[in-house]
Amino acid sequence: MKISIDELQEYLANHYRGRTTEQSMFMKLVEEIGEVAEVLNKRAGRKASNENDLQQQLGIELADMIHYIVAIAAINDIDLSTLIIEKDKVASIKYNHTINLETFLLKKD
Ligand SMILES: [Mg+2]
Repeated sequence: MKISIDELQEYLANHYRGRTTEQSMFMKLVEEIGEVAEVLNKRAGRKASNENDLQQQLGIELADMIHYIVAIAAINDIDLSTLIIEKDKVASIKYNHTINLETFLLKKD
């Protein structure tokens, strides 16, 4: 099963709206960023590890980060999906990309 950013945002808005604050969600996000850093340090040998699947652990922690990023957008009624496309368009011009995300998506259809 696949999920779109819009679907995740709708789900998290229903779950969190009125039950938490953006400050609380941001603090959880920072915790998750630290957990990603810990996995990357283990993979690079800078920290001891007895976990045998750091690749899977990295994915789990990245998913946790996305959860809180999208939750902050959701409780603030921010259209993250549209903004990602608009932001990429600006970046693609600034950095001379050969294709932008919107064109990529249109070509796929
Ligand atoms: Mg985590």
